[in-house]
Order: sequence, then structure tokens, then C-alpha cells
Amino acid sequence: MSIITRDVHGCLNDSFDLIIVGGGVYGIMLALESGFRGKRALLLEQNDFASATSYNHLRTLHGGLRYLQTLDLPRFFESVRERQWFLIYFPQLVEILPCVMPLYNKGIRRKSVFRLALWINNRLSTNRNISVIPKNKLPDGSILSKELTEKTVPEVNMNGLAGSALWYDGIVMEPERLLMEILRWSCSMEASALNYVRADGLKTKKGHVIGIEAVDRISGNRLEFRAPVVINAAGPWNREVAKKFDKDYPILFPTYLLLWNLLFNKKALSDYSLAVTPQQGTGHMYFFHNWKGRMLVGTGQEPVKDLRKNNFPTNENLKSFIHDLNLSIPSLSLKEDDIAHVYYGLLPADAHNNLTKREVVLNHERNGGPKGLYSISGIKFTTSRSVAEKTLDVIFSETRHRKDRQPMPPREANSKRGTFSFDWMPSSNDDGWKKILHRIINEESVIHLDDLIYRRTSLGENKMRLPLIIPKIRDLFQFDSPLWEEEVKRVYKQSQRNE
Ligand SMILES: Cc1cc2nc3c(=O)[nH]c(=O)nc-3n(C[C@H](O)[C@H](O)[C@H](O)COP(=O)(O)OP(=O)(O)OC[C@H]3O[C@@H](n4cnc5c(N)ncnc54)[C@H](O)[C@@H]3O)c2cc1C
Repeated sequence: MSIITRDVHGCLNDSFDLIIVGGGVYGIMLALESGFRGKRALLLEQNDFASATSYNHLRTLHGGLRYLQTLDLPRFFESVRERQWFLIYFPQLVEILPCVMPLYNKGIRRKSVFRLALWINNRLSTNRNISVIPKNKLPDGSILSKELTEKTVPEVNMNGLAGSALWYDGIVMEPERLLMEILRWSCSMEASALNYVRADGLKTKKGHVIGIEAVDRISGNRLEFRAPVVINAAGPWNREVAKKFDKDYPILFPTYLLLWNLLFNKKALSDYSLAVTPQQGTGHMYFFHNWKGRMLVGTGQEPVKDLRKNNFPTNENLKSFIHDLNLSIPSLSLKEDDIAHVYYGLLPADAHNNLTKREVVLNHERNGGPKGLYSISGIKFTTSRSVAEKTLDVIFSETRHRKDRQPMPPREANSKRGTFSFDWMPSSNDDGWKKILHRIINEESVIHLDDLIYRRTSLGENKMRLPLIIPKIRDLFQFDSPLWEEEVKRVYKQSQRNE
């Protein structure tokens, strides 16, 4: 059954092939890839699943066009393949993302350069649509004339405009559901997953990993789980976990880069994602996505000086970000009051504060650490499955061939359960939506109200509807009145954090 059961007791009495620390996209993909190989994984997440970096991405499934600039062909092909993977397996939760970049014939952003780049992109990705359903097939990219650009994206600066580059990527329209469906799929292949369980220590015997010491953050109980392999997939916390289990490995996260995206209380500029650069300044490129009809813009960035203080964007960061956006499209006149959500997270960067280019898969034994302990550090949501596959190829090399028999996800994975359009509001004569929520609560380890609102459904993306929904779903939970008040506070606290 593809159900996520929080059976702590059952897991204590069981023994697993591997334990994964961290329930972001990297941990979840490791659980899935373990299932494909017949390996039983236990995934431990200290908070709720996919509540950290993997909640805050810009939702782009990159096809790797930008890697052609540096002729990084392995990364290009990996991105094309992984974008295709999402489009094939989750056709109802991901969509085509048409992107337009206005060209002013300056530097490399000129028509001749992009004509060549798009031609190479089209030729090198001819396999991109194999097994993809018609609605998700990606057309070839092309150059648009100045006139067509004006018609397509009239907001862009026309001064010196030569035309634009048009290409197609993927976008995750239902990011919460996508990760929960992948986790359910993993559980249908014998994985177990426990949210609100923090891995605190590594258990070893004669230098070999034998399990994990953990704490159940709901009951407060101390726990021990058994497995000969542990993978640290703790995202921005991976150095902290590595240090606890073995020692610090700066290579996992050499420096920390803070990134953010803003969702605005504004209609999307067009049906296209617009890639623009401010008229003056650093030349940093911003993407204006059409996300469910709203304007979602990314990505701002700032090096982190002090991890304890500087792990969310300051007012200054947001001001200067908005200033840049207004320089990119002057007719916008965006203001801070227009911000609906701030999505932010940390990614690994090099000494010059550039995002690292490759994932890291570290075998601690090779560095004098315990046998059976591995740490990974990923960069993109898009390539998380491929990194999980490569990691398990290293650890369970005998299972390499088994992954080729990849089944399709359970049918319901693409039913779009728990998804709501941005403007959806509950009506008094239909409570079909509550029946769906009731099932999700029973089947997806919903511990807190905010798990349901933000990470099992798309209800929380429009905070205007929170006051209408919350009283209506009171009867779906067993909390007494004081506890319910606490739960409601948690929901609003999280929505403020995102303001
Ligand atoms: C603003 C922004 C925009 C982005 N946009 C894109 C994009 O458009 N496309 C793209 O492909 N990528 C994008 N990315 C990158 C992508 O989001 C990340 O690469 C990915 O989400 C990282 O996932 P993760 O699983 O490594 O980390 P996380 O999602 O942070 O997961 C790590 C988990 O480990 C848990 N954990 C830590 N310590 C412990 C412990 N001791 N015990 C148990 N659990 C623990 C944490 O609670 C956390 O949930 C973006 C990133 C950011 C920040």
C-alpha cells in the first residue's frame, strides 16, 4: 500500500538495509531509488517532510541550456534526462515552462549566439520527448523577432530590443504533492518514513555502522534504529550531521549561499517565464514565472557570513531585490507591500560564493571514518533522482542492473489529490474537499495542522483562504481546544515567516 505510516515502534523492531537522514527531495529520492533496487530504507526527518530547502525552490525543472555556455555536456545531458523523468512519471503535477529572454545584442546575449545555442540545444536533446505524453512534449527552442517579442511579452524594455530567445523547460506546479507522491511510491516499495524524528548519533561496532540513535520529537522518546548503511542527506545541515557522526567535511558545503524567491500579490506578467536582467548593475538574471496565474520571481542571493544570524533574507535584501526587478521591467513599480511570500533556503557555494557545480557523494570510510557511512550534498531539485541513483550505485553496486526495471508510480499519484487552484475558496454546499483531506490525514503521517496545509496540499499557498478553511477542518483533527489553538498559531506563524 502506498501509505506513509508513522509506525515508530514497528521501525524500532525492524532492521533496514539503509537509513537516510533528511527528508528533503534528496532523502526522498534516495528512498525511491532504494525501492527500485529491492532495498528497504528508513527515512528520518527531524521536522516535517520537505519542509526546508525543498519547500522553497523556484519549481523549475532545468533542461541544462545554461550548461552549454561552459560546454558542461555531462551536466547538460543529466538535466535533460531528469526533466524528462519528471514529465514522464508525474505528467499531472508538472508542466511545460516556456521561457523568453529578451535580447539586446550586448555581450553574449545576442541573437546570433542564441540562435546557435538553441540549435545545439534542440539537436542534443532530440530524445527529450520519448515516452512523454503529448501535453508535456517540449517543442524546439527558437529566436523570436523583435515584433513577436513585443507581442508576446509587451512589458519588456523595447529600447534597443533585437528579439528574444524562446526555449522550453519544465515546472513543478504542485510541489507539495509531487514530493508526497514520490514518498508514497517509495513506501509502496517497502520504505518506511518517520517525520519529527531527529537523528542524533551514529551507532557503530568495530568501525562498522550498525544504526542510528534518534529522538522522537513528538513523544520525546529516545530511539535506536538498525541498518548497516547510513546516508546523511541533511541538506544545509549535512556538515553538522557529518561532524556528529564522524567529523566535519567542509567539502559538503564549502560556504553557504542564501537564496530566495518572492511570490507577489500580482498577476503573472504573461504565460511565459520571462528571463530578464536589470538595465544597470551586476547583470544578474531574474526569472518571472507565471505560477498559477501569479507572479513568482527568483532568485535573489547573498553570501552567508554568520550561519546563526544570516539564514533568511533581510529587509535590505528584499528592498534591493525589488529595486533590481523594477530596473528590469520599469513598468512594474513593485513595492514591498506586494510581497505575498518569501521562499528562501541555503545552497552550497565555493570560496567565491558561486554555487558549486557538482554534487558531492562522500564515503566516510575512504577518509578514515566508519564503514557504511555516506554523506551527500546536492545542488538542484531537478537532478536529485539522478544523484540518488549514482549514490546507490556506489553503495549497492550489485544492484545497478535492477534499477532499469523502473515501475510506474501508483495510479493515484497523478490524480492531483490535495491540489487547489490559487483562487479556490471553500463553498458551503460542497465538502468533497474535506473527504480528500480526511484521507490524506490518515494516509500521509499528518502530525500538525500546518503539515496538512503547507506540505500535503496546496491550501496554504493562498493565505487569504486560511481563516475560511481552518474552522471548517477543525473536526478532522482530534486536538482538544488549547492544543487546537496552538496548532492554528503554528499555521499563522509559518505564514508570517514567509511574509
Ligand atoms: C531559493 C531557491 C530556489 C531554488 N530553485 C530551484 C529550481 O528552480 N530548480 C531546481 O532544480 N533547484 C532549485 N533549488 C535547489 C533545490 O531546492 C535544492 O537543491 C534541494 O531542495 C535540496 O534538497 P535537500 O534534500 O538536499 O535539502 P533539504 O530540503 O533542506 O532537506 C534536508 C532535510 O534534512 C533534515 N535534517 C537535518 N538534520 C537532520 C537530522 N539530524 N535528523 C533528521 N533530519 C535532519 C532537515 O530538516 C531537512 O528537511 C533552489 C533552492 C533555493 C534555496
